[in-house]
Amino acid sequence: MLRVGFIGWRGMVGSVLMKRMQANNDFKKIDAVFFSTSDKGGKAPEMGQKNTTLLDAYDVKALLNLDCIVTAQGGDYTDFIMPKLKDAGFSGFFVDASSALRMSEDSLLILDPINYNQIVNGIKNGTRIYCGSNCTVSLMLLAISGLLKHDLVEWVNSQTYQAASGAGANNMRELIAQCGVMYSSVGKNLEDKTTNILDIDQAVSEILGSDKLPTQYFGAPLAGNVLPWIDKAMENGQTKEEWKGMVEANKILGLVSNTLKIDGNCVRVGSLRSHSQALTIKLRDSNISVNEIEGLIKSGNEWVRFVPNNKPDTLKYLTPASVNGTLDIAVGRVRKLNLGEDYLSMFTVGDQLLWGAAEPIRRLIDILVKHA
Ligand code: NAP
Repeated sequence: MLRVGFIGWRGMVGSVLMKRMQANNDFKKIDAVFFSTSDKGGKAPEMGQKNTTLLDAYDVKALLNLDCIVTAQGGDYTDFIMPKLKDAGFSGFFVDASSALRMSEDSLLILDPINYNQIVNGIKNGTRIYCGSNCTVSLMLLAISGLLKHDLVEWVNSQTYQAASGAGANNMRELIAQCGVMYSSVGKNLEDKTTNILDIDQAVSEILGSDKLPTQYFGAPLAGNVLPWIDKAMENGQTKEEWKGMVEANKILGLVSNTLKIDGNCVRVGSLRSHSQALTIKLRDSNISVNEIEGLIKSGNEWVRFVPNNKPDTLKYLTPASVNGTLDIAVGRVRKLNLGEDYLSMFTVGDQLLWGAAEPIRRLIDILVKHA
């Protein structure tokens, strides 16, 4: 049985991973061991494993006993532990939710509905590092996989609407707390239907500009606002989140020299758990009809849920609220743009904690059980 050690299992990605593995009876297929960076000797989660005590995540000797390390602890942990594991001769698999090793030459990015063969060949050929990809990249590739399979995509411009959950648990809390402060500032006036709307607007604007709103984690109000900046700056004017779009998508697709051009703006919005993206796609074939495109999108993979381009279906099925907690990749608003017959527009939504983070890792563990 594969001996798999989990680090970061109680964080946001880690706890979704635990939940999905339990739901799929995955713990019966492995010998699980749990680690902690902060609670060595504490009580491990009960998943039917032999060892019920938490081991020290910094204990390289203990890690060397594993066939596979799965970490959702974050990039700092990976940066710290990886050189030590290499020096100690660790030869097992290292599966990482963080971005620390994504662009390393000796790593593969995991999104098996897209690159299953690459992963299985990697296992056979000795690749030991497998990284979960950026959430918007995974969700975008799953949404357009039918078009990619038919080599119809020349380039993609993505405008993202990213949920608070992508920034972590504390950010989710902060967004809700901000909503609460905003509501309290106008509560009575809202109930009184005779209040002038400009008075309400004025009160909210004052709160957004005041220090009464908690902004420790986002650094700015997100409630009643949008933040067109995610992650750090790159030299070319992109944010790192925007930079990841092209480099990670091309690596997942196994394309060299970033053949598939992707760029856009990544924006944090006040949605809680699921990410949305508006995509403009330059098609290689201007003769293909919207009906044919719909068929290809639907055939991309079993998780795509196509939403007809009308108001009731869009409002009901093409929103973050409609996909939260599901593996659905909702795709809708599909139409040709006025720019020309080779310009396609679509809107897509997916749960970024599932396909965007935990699910590719869960499925990779399953692939390792079968192929390692
Ligand atoms: P997180 O929620 O902050 O958890 C990371 C670690 O923080 C936990 O494993 C835990 O480690 C520690 N921790 C401290 N206080 C905690 C508390 N009150 N509750 C839970 N854990 C606490 O991080 P995350 O969002 O899961 O992200 C983990 C990694 O995955 C990061 O590298 C991130 O970039 C990447 N990632 C995240 C997402 C996302 O949507 N959030 C998506 C894709 C990739 P100990 O138990 O050892 O103390």
